[in-house]
Amino acid sequence: MAQRRSALDVWKSLGDEPSTRHATAELVPAVLCAAGAIGLAPFAVMRWMSGELPIAAMDTAVIVFFVLLGTYVYRTRKVRIASVLIALIGVVGVTLSVNFRGVGQTPWAFPAMLSCFFLLRPREALGLTLALCVVIFLQLQGSASTGQLAAFIATMLISTVFAFGFSIINDQQQDKLVSLAAKDPLTGAGNRRAFVDRLRDVIARFERSGMPSSLVLIDIDHFKSINDTHGHSAGDEVLCRVSTLIDARIRDVDRLYRIGGEEFVVVLEGEHLESAYDLAEDLRERMDGKELLPGVSVTLSMGVAQIRERESDDRWIRRADKAMYEAKRSGRNRVKVAE
Ligand code: GH3
Ligand code: MG
Ligand code: MG
Repeated sequence: MAQRRSALDVWKSLGDEPSTRHATAELVPAVLCAAGAIGLAPFAVMRWMSGELPIAAMDTAVIVFFVLLGTYVYRTRKVRIASVLIALIGVVGVTLSVNFRGVGQTPWAFPAMLSCFFLLRPREALGLTLALCVVIFLQLQGSASTGQLAAFIATMLISTVFAFGFSIINDQQQDKLVSLAAKDPLTGAGNRRAFVDRLRDVIARFERSGMPSSLVLIDIDHFKSINDTHGHSAGDEVLCRVSTLIDARIRDVDRLYRIGGEEFVVVLEGEHLESAYDLAEDLRERMDGKELLPGVSVTLSMGVAQIRERESDDRWIRRADKAMYEAKRSGRNRVKVAE
């Protein structure tokens, strides 16, 4: 089963511009740290002034920790460790507070529980919240009345069940949204946006570690005539069949995208030009003469290109596109290698 994500992970994975999409989400733990430090400061001052030294020292330590953690998140933009630590600080803070000051501090368990569900994965948050209930229950035995204990446990459990349910539903809906946002609705192949994201990833990997990657740009030949002769829905069906056939042939690690009406592209991560060419030739042969609908078959023209040093995504696609047009010009139903 896919690893469930926290609301924060999901938020991070959404957004339009790759360059800015992490900015807001990455600042959330930093903002929580700042809010925690600022919110605790007056209490720390009051406690130092009223001589409650152990709690004053604890508040001050937490403030210093929040400042350091917030700075770390702000500088490194790494949120997972910070999220876990903030959730733990909330939970431990509540238990210490209840320990020192008694049942009157139990309402703080509710914001601590909610922050767990915001910052952690649903199951982690559920585990931590239930542990918090048990610890507070044990701490208050003897000092709080049965009514107070029962009310605390009942309200915490009901709130936790709702928070867990909401976070699971939210998670599933966001998973669906993320997947829909990356898919072509007709064929189920990746869409242009997912393609651009993928290209940036493989280019970044090439620049970091020199791992090669190649593109196979595929255009169906004379596709318009299928629409004209058999109708638009037959054309749609042919697009789906072509997409399914290509998808069945490529490896799990490779991805197929539909980037235009009857244009597809396969990204072969970690593959040299020769493998991309072999794949394209194999696809061409498989498609040639295959009856996709009664009396309907298509051929493919393709361009293959391997990423080069200091090449942009635009330039890489343009080279593959040029090779594909060269295949068209020289008679269609063929594969050309990019210059
Ligand atoms: P070539 O061999 O030069 O590629 O010729 P072609 O007919 O394949 O290319 P052209 O660009 O002239 O026509 C592409 C056609 O694809 C035109 C458009 O109506 C059709 N098309 C684009 N998107 C869809 C779609 O989603 N469904 C269907 N059925 N047709 C589509
Ligand atoms: Mg075309
Ligand atoms: Mg075409």
